[in-house]
Formats: sequence, structure tokens, C-alpha cells
Amino acid sequence: MINNFLKTKGLIDGKARFLAVTKGKNSHEILPLLRLGHKIFGESRIQEAKLKWLDLRQEFPEIKLHMIGHLQTNKVKDAIELFDVIETLDSEKLAIQIAKQLQLISKQIDLLIEVNIGSEKNKYGVNLNEIDEFIDYCKVELQLPIKGIMIIPPKDEAPKYFFNLAYDIAKRNQLPEISMGMSNDFIQAIECGSTEVRIGRSIF
Ligand SMILES: *Cc1c(COP(=O)(O)O)cnc(C)c1O
Repeated sequence: MINNFLKTKGLIDGKARFLAVTKGKNSHEILPLLRLGHKIFGESRIQEAKLKWLDLRQEFPEIKLHMIGHLQTNKVKDAIELFDVIETLDSEKLAIQIAKQLQLISKQIDLLIEVNIGSEKNKYGVNLNEIDEFIDYCKVELQLPIKGIMIIPPKDEAPKYFFNLAYDIAKRNQLPEISMGMSNDFIQAIECGSTEVRIGRSIF
């Protein structure tokens, strides 16, 4: 059902999971997707996500919610309570705070590390020259449930190089998940080994 819907939008390949990005969308806009049986959603802001999903979840308890926006350390508790996956672990400070809260809150979540794949200024994400060490630190020292990485390639540049770079990072660190690909570039992302595409505009 959902796959047929996505096929009509040209959005299915079968290799990558499809995360529906619902930031900026209200419950009325989201409901058709939920009724089609779609279960994985992404939000960028905790407050906005709470407003919509605390209610929607009552009706659709089996959905999984992913945090895909920058997370401030003082919001970690809220984030862990609300989300099933946090894709934007991007600093040591945040990693320490998440580890602390996970010990206090008995909930299982998955974590992806955001990588600043284009080494851009003013962009969140762990630097390329620190990423291997950071992954190790999170896994070994903090015992965090790191499942993979998430990237947003630089705007106005061909994304393929960055997708391949992300694939290499995941591969050499033995991480199974690579969250990459958005409305504009998801086909290439899947060709480069994405395991999850995050799509907003093309489905709404
Ligand atoms: C908004 C957003 C998306 C979805 O982008 P579209 O171009 O609307 O498909 C994906 N990932 C992140 C991190 C986003 O903020």
C-alpha cells in the first residue's frame, strides 16, 4: 500500500528505508500517510514534534519517530522520551549528556552520528578528521547504541562524492546504517548505499 503510493511518486527502490519528514506539516497532512500504514517519521524540532506526535501516537502506537534536527544538550531528556532514533549526535558534549540520560531513563533508542561531510563552516556534524575516533569514543567509552551515520551533503555541489565518503566511513567503522538522501538526491543516495532516505517535499 505505502509502497504503491511511493511508486507513483517515483520514490521506491526497496533497498533503503523511507523516512517521511513531517516538519512544518500538521496532523491533517500527516494522517493520510499514517492511514496508508507508513510507520517511520522524522521531525526537526522537539516542541513541534511533541505537539503533533503525542496525540498521533495514541492512535498509531507502532510508529517510529526520528529526530533529524540539531539537538541541544538541555533538551536531551525530552528527546529521548519522545524519539526512537536520534540521528543528530554531533558533539562530545551531546554524547555525554545522552549517555547520562540513557542511564536514568529506561528506554531503548538508536543513535546515528551526524557527520559534517562537506567540512562546511556553520554546519553541524562531527568533523571528518575526528569521525573515526568519535565513533570509537561513543561506542567504547560511553557505551552508546551507535547504529550508523547521517549526512547532509553541501548545497550546490554534486552529492555523489559525499555519499561515497559517507559509505566509506560507515563501512570502515562497521556501522550498518547510513541515513542520506533527500527529495533532490535520494536516487543517487540509494545507488551509493543509503539505508535510509529522508523525504519531505516530494511526498507532501
Ligand atoms: C527537511 C529535511 C529533510 C527533507 O528534505 P526534503 O528536501 O524536503 O525532502 C531531510 N533531512 C533533514 C535533516 C531535513 O531537515
